[in-house]
Amino acid sequence: MWVTPLLLALFLPLVSAVPLQQRKSATKLLLISFDGFRWNYDQDVDMPNLNAMAKDGVKAQYITPPFITITSPIHFTLLTGKYIENHGVIHNMFFNTSNGLKLPYYPTQGKSEWWDNGSLPIWITAQRQGLKTGSLFFPGGNATYQGEQVNVKKVESGFHKWDNKTEWANNIETVMRWFTEQDVDFVALYFGEPDSTGHKYGPESQERKNIVKQVDWAIGHIRSRIEDYGLKAKLNMIITADHGMRTILKEPAVNEIVLSRIPNFSFKDIQFELLDYGPTGLIMPKEGKLEQVYQALKNGHPHLNVYKKEELPERFHYGKNPRVPPLVLYGDPGYVVHGKIKVQNNKGEHGFDNEDMDMKTIFRAVGPSFKQDLMVEPFESIHIYALMCELLGIMPEAHNGSLEVTRNLLADATPPSTESQVAFIVVVTLGSITGFLLIVFLGSLINTAISRRREGQRA
Ligand SMILES: [Zn+2]
Repeated sequence: MWVTPLLLALFLPLVSAVPLQQRKSATKLLLISFDGFRWNYDQDVDMPNLNAMAKDGVKAQYITPPFITITSPIHFTLLTGKYIENHGVIHNMFFNTSNGLKLPYYPTQGKSEWWDNGSLPIWITAQRQGLKTGSLFFPGGNATYQGEQVNVKKVESGFHKWDNKTEWANNIETVMRWFTEQDVDFVALYFGEPDSTGHKYGPESQERKNIVKQVDWAIGHIRSRIEDYGLKAKLNMIITADHGMRTILKEPAVNEIVLSRIPNFSFKDIQFELLDYGPTGLIMPKEGKLEQVYQALKNGHPHLNVYKKEELPERFHYGKNPRVPPLVLYGDPGYVVHGKIKVQNNKGEHGFDNEDMDMKTIFRAVGPSFKQDLMVEPFESIHIYALMCELLGIMPEAHNGSLEVTRNLLADATPPSTESQVAFIVVVTLGSITGFLLIVFLGSLINTAISRRREGQRA
């Protein structure tokens, strides 16, 4: 039928409702993570810049990360709004239970098959909706997703030294230039402190207090550079982190958890294990050995929690992912899980139950879209994603959070919500399709009538 391609050509622009190429977000967004910044680190260090930011913006009492409370899984929750079992980045380390391959944190950053597991981070979603995005050292920023990657990025080298103040200043300049010279809409910026120092010296150490002081300097510096670059009126900034930090209990004060000391447990019964990584452990017993290994470990130590993955408490939202091996172990707060021998020497660790107050972290935000001098109740990290999508004016992917949890942080009490934008797009699209089908229908009626008339003339 001749009318169809013609009408299709006429009406197709109406059907694709948003002209993607020209889209700009009304405001830009800078997401900053200071790895391992425990919720109360500002209580024993003078932090004038963080306090000033709270006065000019909003502050949550603390936020609750997802379990397990380690870096890459939680950062991917920030980027997707999903619980860890739903986004599948279940550990800092890539592993393969079939061939025993395990990769440390840095190589895993570049292992796209670990990250690209069915969930899109906000960078890719924003880019697909016409925005430009950047990542500076942010976990997940070095992977490709369905063949796409973040527009501009800087990736850290292996064994990066995280506390270098000069590098911090350089990175802040890089981000400011991305926002101004390259007109990037959204940047995720990562600092590996105070996590590194908290691990090495412990969360109660003077060294940790010193590095938290440096974090405060960085916040002040970022805010003053935002002003210098003329970005203050159009840039929203969120400061958060992945998890907190806890002092590790050591012998002889306590009886540490060492699996090789547990009666009736043998590494000979194990096909694959991911141990000696803070307080958690993942174990795949050999064929037919699950029950035996489970029973041995379950009664193995008064501070060791052992679960079959399907029996993990629902509140963890961790066990349902197919990548999680059959047995999940975690120590009570303060206890790390050692495997064959004790190789973990850190004074501070994270990875514990996310209800442990020492695992809670911070949330602060400031900018034209946020209220001022507002303190809000604690909420979960999963909700930050929906807030970021709202700030950028993009439609979120399916996620586990809700904008309703953070809507009261926004200056405009009733902003045009993403839901109403969606409704608008749906109405426009459906209207266009209906109109299009109507015209096709009418066209085909006319066409048929003409043909019949022609046939009638021929006959
Ligand atoms: Zn971390």
